[in-house]
Amino acid sequence: MAKEIIIGIDLGTTNSVVSYRQADGQIKVIPNPEGKPTTPSVVAFKPDGEQINGEAAKRQAVTNPDTVLSIKRKIGSSEKIRIQSLKKDFTPEEISAKILSYMKDYAEKNLGQSISKAVITVPAYFNDAQRQATKVAGEIAGLEVVRIINEPTAAALAYGLDKEHNEKILVFDLGGGTFDVSILEIGDGTFEVIATAGDNHLGGDDWDNEIVEWLKKEIEREHGLKLTDKMAIQRFREAAEKAKIDLSQLLETTISLPFIGMGASGPISYEGKLTRAKFLDLTKHLLARVEEPIRRALSDAKIKASDLEQVILIGGSTRMPAVQELVKKMTGKNPNLSVNPDEAVSIGA
Ligand code: ADP
Ligand code: MG
Repeated sequence: MAKEIIIGIDLGTTNSVVSYRQADGQIKVIPNPEGKPTTPSVVAFKPDGEQINGEAAKRQAVTNPDTVLSIKRKIGSSEKIRIQSLKKDFTPEEISAKILSYMKDYAEKNLGQSISKAVITVPAYFNDAQRQATKVAGEIAGLEVVRIINEPTAAALAYGLDKEHNEKILVFDLGGGTFDVSILEIGDGTFEVIATAGDNHLGGDDWDNEIVEWLKKEIEREHGLKLTDKMAIQRFREAAEKAKIDLSQLLETTISLPFIGMGASGPISYEGKLTRAKFLDLTKHLLARVEEPIRRALSDAKIKASDLEQVILIGGSTRMPAVQELVKKMTGKNPNLSVNPDEAVSIGA
């Protein structure tokens, strides 16, 4: 019989990731059916009631009202989610369970064995009700949740920092829709969260939106046409996220949207360049919003930036060079970047 595997799941607001420990001790992220390490935390139902998950659900999010996004924001509350096509209400735990169940399923297929246990991560600021609800979601998905651990603690573990003594570290987490700063004190294998701060409504989606708004204006300028239909918005969002990701590596990218709308004299297409400089200009007000929570976390922890031993960057949006530079400027530390920022939490779990 195969050795029992306990998976580590980062159940994120925007994306989720599942990892496991190989027989040789190495931790591996398990790719989703599209071959990607991160899976959108999205569940949707087609008009006929068929459930779709992950990448496929994200691709039709704008056009299908029966799409559930960012369910993590509601976990632990008594709010109900109405799914029209099924004429049914779901609890946040039940929707979260569908994400977990999808991940458990592809992990099992990938590893060729059944999985019944998991460690799931939660934000450091989650209260008991939110932690309990996350556990329940795991149980509904058929997983025994052996441990709920804090995301910044998991990230620190992924960096092997449990071997450190009396160190204070800052974990900077900029994801898709949320921003969290945590200061941890590490001592002999234990982690204490001494301060948390952040912005529950700041993340990569906001950076994408600035590109979407810019694209709309560009097209209006070129064609005198305001595009507002859902299909066009879905395509703008996809193009915007792709351009943003390109600009983490390149100084310039081309956005091309063939047949994006119908003009007076037939279909219109858009093709244009976006430079990193222009992108920075469009988003500088967003970048400015990460500063205050860093200051607040340091002041709540009653320490100075110079008291920090390490700064860790997690969350996919920390791949943006401007974010890395700002954190470096504010903390005076070269952030540790040796683990993929969107995989670190799951690896630690
Ligand atoms: P979560 O908020 O669920 O923890 P992630 O940490 O996976 O999610 O962050 C998702 C965000 O990271 C998305 O907005 C995505 O566009 C962004 N992102 C991923 N890769 C890059 C990249 N190379 N450059 C800029 N942003 C990125
Ligand atoms: Mg995250």
